[in-house]
Amino acid sequence: NPKMVEVDHFNFYYGAKQAIFDVCLDIPERQITAFIGPSGCGKSTLLRNLNRLNDLIDGVRHEGDIRIDGTSLYDPTVEVISLRKRVGMVFQKYNPFPKTIYENVVFSLRVAGRNKKSELDEVVERSLRSAALWDEVKDRLHDSAYGLSGGQQQRLCIARAIANRPQILLMDEPCAALDPIATLKIEELMLDLKKEFTIAIVTHNMQQASRCSDRTAFMFMGRLIEHGETKQIFTEP
Ligand code: ADP
Ligand code: ADP
Repeated sequence: NPKMVEVDHFNFYYGAKQAIFDVCLDIPERQITAFIGPSGCGKSTLLRNLNRLNDLIDGVRHEGDIRIDGTSLYDPTVEVISLRKRVGMVFQKYNPFPKTIYENVVFSLRVAGRNKKSELDEVVERSLRSAALWDEVKDRLHDSAYGLSGGQQQRLCIARAIANRPQILLMDEPCAALDPIATLKIEELMLDLKKEFTIAIVTHNMQQASRCSDRTAFMFMGRLIEHGETKQIFTEP
């Protein structure tokens, strides 16, 4: 598959503390790449850099480059806003907005000034179907998102993240706060979503990485120490 993301000799610093050391890796299109490794090894930091979320923190800096679909995240002519439209993100603690299910899904469209009802209705149905949630919520789209179960709230966050059809979907420990059944449901969903989206997932769960990723990137102390096809990584001695 062609590369969707290229991380090119990337270093990242929180003030004096270096958190990422010379990472190089490509993320192929329409595959799931899992980032694994012990707590504090830099998985979230790397993932959040793909969205430039870390740049919101004071005193951070980077060296090297990250390109999405050939465009550098640091290209001064590209606005961060337009970049974020190309990248959807889902967090460990599912965090729907205190709004209806419908308004959660269309949030990013409203922000962009897209308010046409027929368009929004279509996006809501398509996104909720893609997130395997439509059948469960189609009769209560205008109820609060907080009435949903944890697993449903996380799938709603996935629907919200893909509403704009991003080129890449970042998932930071998306199942860590969920029970095993809700977790399996999200894993199944990811296998469906990769037909349409490129996915990068951070997980500390090796089984999860081996069950549902195509490629695995193993990090240790800020370095990428192994990277390749999941089948090979998990069968080598
Ligand atoms: P992981 O996701 O693998 O648990 P992180 O990316 O969260 O690792 O953290 C990598 C390193 O960077 C850790 O040493 C962590 O303490 C440090 N770190 C993370 N966020 C910050 C921050 N906002 N300020 C300073 N150091 C941070
Ligand atoms: P995770 O392992 O899921 O990244 P953490 O508990 O390591 O979660 O971090 C939670 C939050 O605290 C993150 O936003 C991270 O950036 C921040 N953080 C982590 N380590 C530090 C640190 N040494 N100094 C400041 N902020 C930190």
